[in-house]
Amino acid sequence: MVSMQFSEKFADKKWQASSQLTEEHVMPYRSWDPSGKRALVLAPHADDETFGCGGTIALHAASGDPVMVVVLTDGARGNISRRHSDAEYIRMRRDEAREACRILGAADPVFWEFADRSLWGEIPRARGKLMEILEDFRPERIYAPSILEYHPDHRAAAALLLTFMGDVSSDLEIAFWEINQPLCVNSLVDISPVLSQKEAAIRVYKTQLEELDYADHILSLNRFRAMTLPPPATHAEGFSLWPAHGIRRWLSHLDASRKPPCMHGYTGLYERQLPFLDVHYGVEPSVAGICASIHRFFVK
Ligand SMILES: [Zn+2]
Repeated sequence: MVSMQFSEKFADKKWQASSQLTEEHVMPYRSWDPSGKRALVLAPHADDETFGCGGTIALHAASGDPVMVVVLTDGARGNISRRHSDAEYIRMRRDEAREACRILGAADPVFWEFADRSLWGEIPRARGKLMEILEDFRPERIYAPSILEYHPDHRAAAALLLTFMGDVSSDLEIAFWEINQPLCVNSLVDISPVLSQKEAAIRVYKTQLEELDYADHILSLNRFRAMTLPPPATHAEGFSLWPAHGIRRWLSHLDASRKPPCMHGYTGLYERQLPFLDVHYGVEPSVAGICASIHRFFVK
């Protein structure tokens, strides 16, 4: 039965069309210049802004673009080894975030201080705060976690952002970064010129490096992402970049079928992420729940 389903799927004309695509259709071979936009960065925890898009932040800042970093939670649950009291640990993480942003050239971060690992339940309150920022700061691009991240706060941050897609300008760009879960990226930023800044910013997060060698993991991912870029690029940050109107279209498909639409190949911006969902996550109740939650907030 399973083999029959597969053979039917591969015999489908849509899959035949995919087979005609070359490497350049499915993976960027040139670096994307992110500069020239007012950038808002949503970091569920202090460190995510640096791990996910620290090099890109530095490039924005070097170009004179306003960059606003918002740290959504207090990060207290990262205090696994209990070397510090919770209050001390929260204070240390805030100081680390300030120093990391200074190194990257961004303004002092804003701290919302929602309790760590509670963001799903805080989406209604967080909506009000994000609405104020959208009105006051007027970002032209937002960097955020994708809904494929495995940390619940990361997925909640993605859901929070997606609830606004009905209210924002069609031209607003959303760049989903990757930390917990690699994406089918459609945009690569060569961060080699600012690599030393990113590494220095990562090293600031001593509370996190005590738990795990994030510098090695994150910079290894960045190294891998440079595989398709020409020399002298050595490190890159990958993004799934969508215009708001593309996300609206995707959400309308969710509304109709509660599952991602059937893809015609990797030809568009959002199609490049959705086959990943379809193949690996399309029938998983956890992601179906996420999608339903996003939709519930979206239509309110
Ligand atoms: Zn995080």
